[in-house]
Amino acid sequence: MTAPPRPDLQCPKSMTHGPCGGVGEDGSCEVAPVPCAFLPLPTVAWAGPTAVRTTPEPRLLALMRQRPVVVADLPAVALDRGSLQRAADTVVGTVDAVLLGDHGGARVQFSPTYRASLVQARGLPVWQGLNCRDRNRVALEGELAGLADLDVGAVHCVTGDHTATGDRPDAQPVFDLDSTQLAAAARAAGLLVSVGETPHGPPAERRPHRLVEKVRAGADVCFVNHAGSVQALRAFVEQATDAGADVPFVACVAVATDPGSAAQLRRFTGLRLPEGYLAGIESARDPRRAGIAAAVALAQAYLSVPGVRGVDLSGVPSPGTELTTATALAEIGRALS
Ligand code: SF4
Repeated sequence: MTAPPRPDLQCPKSMTHGPCGGVGEDGSCEVAPVPCAFLPLPTVAWAGPTAVRTTPEPRLLALMRQRPVVVADLPAVALDRGSLQRAADTVVGTVDAVLLGDHGGARVQFSPTYRASLVQARGLPVWQGLNCRDRNRVALEGELAGLADLDVGAVHCVTGDHTATGDRPDAQPVFDLDSTQLAAAARAAGLLVSVGETPHGPPAERRPHRLVEKVRAGADVCFVNHAGSVQALRAFVEQATDAGADVPFVACVAVATDPGSAAQLRRFTGLRLPEGYLAGIESARDPRRAGIAAAVALAQAYLSVPGVRGVDLSGVPSPGTELTTATALAEIGRALS
């Protein structure tokens, strides 16, 4: 049994293991102009069984023990098979896997399993994102079964942004599960499981403990959402490890190569970057060169933090620049290998 849902909490995402990563810096809810319902509460414990892996260690987890891995977003036009394939062909061989998550401008996408199958067919391991916004537990279990059958590299389990904040506010949000419960379901399906955590998201002092509960539920890896400085990343990893989250960490590295992608990054929920990071790229004579150099330097700095065993190159291309962004990601991947 997991902890029961809390309808009394008035969480627009119906979360059991809140708070989500969208809490405002002032403690406000991501969706409604009210305080986040979880802020006054202690960390919600995972009440199900503690996950124990009985299957052989997944490939990417074994690789992370040998050397740091490089994961990258895959910039492609939504619902466009050719665009996905061209992007995959551009980055294959330069990164260890691609993270297929939400699209910056289009919530309607190919189903997760179909998208993963298209990309893996190009020889590129997939770290498939799954959210709890668009599918109920039955549909999610179906996707997890498909992804396991496809032998994807890993699955990244998030609660997801609310429909009210995306390009489809007409859609009913589902939130039958939350990220902690989805992590448990993904582990039960035999997949390598990652979750995200935002170090500075209120209540920052309890984020490490929330991660511990996700690990107990089934998470193998933690993606640290844009943490800002190296010191902030180090502090979070140390606190989470001390609290009992014995997992490798993958640090998200913001990639911007033109004013458009810098503007897209600024719209990220809870984005925190090193001082002057985007301004330095935007004011450079050659923003593309500057953006690639800045991403390589930030990734190398993050990888110097003990416990950080990978980076995720994260960026949102402006429309029409998907392939040139993929080329930039490939260049960064090569520089880090
Ligand atoms: S910020 Fe997130 S967890 Fe908190 S009440 Fe709003 S939707 Fe729920």
